[in-house]
Amino acid sequence: MTHDDASRRAPGRGGKISLVVPVYNEGKGLYALRDSVVAVMDALPYDWDCLFVDDGSRDDSWSIVESLVAADPRFKGLMFSRNFGKEMALTAGVEASIGADAVICLDADLQHPPEVIPELIAKWEEGYDIVATIREKVADYTLVKKIGSKGFYWFMRRFTDLDLPPNSTDFRLLDKKVVRTLAKFTEGSRMFRGIIDWMGYKKTYISFCAPARSQGEPAYSVKKLFNLAINSFTSFSLVPLRLTGYLGLGIMAVTIPLLVLMVLANWFVGANITPIAFFTVFNTLLIGVVLCALGMMSLYIGHIHTEVVNRPLYIVRCRAGNWDGQQ
Ligand code: UDP
Ligand code: MG
Repeated sequence: MTHDDASRRAPGRGGKISLVVPVYNEGKGLYALRDSVVAVMDALPYDWDCLFVDDGSRDDSWSIVESLVAADPRFKGLMFSRNFGKEMALTAGVEASIGADAVICLDADLQHPPEVIPELIAKWEEGYDIVATIREKVADYTLVKKIGSKGFYWFMRRFTDLDLPPNSTDFRLLDKKVVRTLAKFTEGSRMFRGIIDWMGYKKTYISFCAPARSQGEPAYSVKKLFNLAINSFTSFSLVPLRLTGYLGLGIMAVTIPLLVLMVLANWFVGANITPIAFFTVFNTLLIGVVLCALGMMSLYIGHIHTEVVNRPLYIVRCRAGNWDGQQ
């Protein structure tokens, strides 16, 4: 552990914690969130502030944010020009909080109860860089959302390198070094949680029960969630690209021996195999060849994808020894 780590993590030592709250049509629910946040954060020995990122709300959310900011200078607001989605709201909020010792992201609808924050901070004080959460039950998820969420996590675990436990949420604490690293990621279509899991670092999970949202409708429609799932999957897995190649190889593996068998049977055993049967198998073999060629191209497209996404090549967690004040 570096000197920096050791001094920061003495419990109750102070420092600054920033909360980041994405807001999309959350309206009056923000008052309840403010009350809850103030009660929880004022009881902790840390300076704190809370940034609302209004993701292009169509209701009165922004005027409520303005009134909260006017009443208490620890609250801040940032409004997008239109709806860019929660991932971007979180990104903007975390980037704006780059000076804090730790950043905590939580939803505006009280489904990420601020009462859990002291537990997140306690884990951080123990030395974890990322304290993520798993929701134990979701009070107001529809059957479609439940099945979709199960399927999504299964796919992500099966086909990507991410360590994404089922029901993990965006409610998480990030140490300042994670926040600094996050600023190096430039990829446009991003899954916030996925990027953080990809980074590694010292991570732990705590679980909590998600209550029903405080008011209003869930801002995430099934369509939006589906798009997010596809985006997340394709930015962390090249499996769909490789599938064509595997399919082509499979077809070739079946058709080549079949063709040889047919030729042998025709010549040596005298089986009367019709030209149309030969032609059909030969044609299928050609399809296999074409798919294999496509698969080869996909491998190169995969490389291009990796280069374009331009993630950091490696991430240093900490250093030991004399580094002459280098970060
Ligand atoms: N949200 C956002 N932009 C969007 C959709 C949602 O900033 O386009 C915010 C929303 O205000 C809430 C959080 O993201 O604070 C989670 O949204 P929601 O409650 O709809 O998601 P769920 O709880 O169903 O996962
Ligand atoms: Mg919610």
